[in-house]
Amino acid sequence: MCGNFAVSSTDANIIDDLFLGTFYLQHRGQKYCGLSVYDGTQIKIRTHKGLVRDRSFSDLTGMGGFMGIGSTSLKDCQPLKLDSKMGEFTICFSGNIINREEIVDDLKKRGHSFYTDSDIEIIAKLIAQGNNFVDGIENMAGKIRGSYALVLLSKNALYAARDKYGFRPLVMGIREGSIAVSSESCAFCNTGFIILRDVEPGEILEIKKDKYETKKVIHSDIKQYCSFEWVYTANVTSIIDGSPVDCVRRNIGAALAKRYPVDADIVAAVPNSGIGHAIGYSQESKIPFDNVFIKYDYASRSYTQPTQEERDREAKIKLIPVSCKIKGRKVVICDDSIVRGTQFKNDLVVKLRRNGISEIHARIACPPLKAPCLYGVATRSKNELIAAEKTVEEIRKYIGIDSLAYATIEDVAEAIGKPIKDLCLSCWTDQYKV
Ligand code: SF4
Repeated sequence: MCGNFAVSSTDANIIDDLFLGTFYLQHRGQKYCGLSVYDGTQIKIRTHKGLVRDRSFSDLTGMGGFMGIGSTSLKDCQPLKLDSKMGEFTICFSGNIINREEIVDDLKKRGHSFYTDSDIEIIAKLIAQGNNFVDGIENMAGKIRGSYALVLLSKNALYAARDKYGFRPLVMGIREGSIAVSSESCAFCNTGFIILRDVEPGEILEIKKDKYETKKVIHSDIKQYCSFEWVYTANVTSIIDGSPVDCVRRNIGAALAKRYPVDADIVAAVPNSGIGHAIGYSQESKIPFDNVFIKYDYASRSYTQPTQEERDREAKIKLIPVSCKIKGRKVVICDDSIVRGTQFKNDLVVKLRRNGISEIHARIACPPLKAPCLYGVATRSKNELIAAEKTVEEIRKYIGIDSLAYATIEDVAEAIGKPIKDLCLSCWTDQYKV
């Protein structure tokens, strides 16, 4: 994951749009963030560790300009600035390079040195070898195996590009006099932009002021949109490649209700990402939706924490049980996924039992997770995934609940509204097409 935002305008003061657009991608990464602008003379850059709003608007004095890019990252400090034969540029990237070692070895043999072990540095150095930025992005795309969505700021134009499989989302927005590009459309909602269209898989866009032009489309015979974006990663208000995240989550919940009905008093969610699925289950089953957990507003997103220790800590503190809704009730609880099963076993079930729940029936919005992701920042290894080793019945017994059922691949694809062949399903199938 990681979030990228870019904006270009006829107006010289894009910093408020850039700051807010980047802020609304905070859920995609919380370790580092940064902004870069071109003010007509120089490319400036500001980065810091932590959340976007750990800094205020007043800290951005001197960061005006006609165009800029921003990043929220769970791994590397971005944007990265490089000087090249095409001039200075800054770049933000989301994705993963699978053949990183091979590329680094090759670049070292040709005299390059590296300051970091980050993918963004490799991406930037490969692009810098081009005759121009479009050529450079195409050169990079031809060398890496993996995924990318990127925004690049030069003194002449902004560029936005997405890998030819479409793994990571990237969408364009428009407002009078301005064009924006974002990992998700949720970044447009409070900045007055409306969705123009998605950046197409393989597309390289050049943006100047409020005009954009497709400079190249790199062709692939297959598409591989990340299914997990709709199930969990993306903000519920986003529309990704034409499919609204909220509708997809409700559709998955409805499919779970049809496929795995249960006699229960209420349907509840593991907030926040289980809420859409639970509402869908409730609407289809006619069992009322209610809260048995509230996510504490000041807790972070556990999945996007960089280490397991931090993920465990955030998972444990983020959910507060609503005790008056739990006692004596049979509850269907919907969640986006089960990774290790430890949060369910050691946190959710403990809190529900302590508050006198009668029955717990878990409904999970995707198939059992069996393999790590090779196309985003890898936060899991295979031996951490409970479904890689245990059957559904063994998982149910391990976490100590009354019933457990998962959505099927067919349910997820139908809910998204795309053919199975166009979706990346690798974390459930353990098969990698790219
Ligand atoms: S492996 Fe899973 S998380 Fe990674 S791109 Fe594919 S569907 Fe998305």
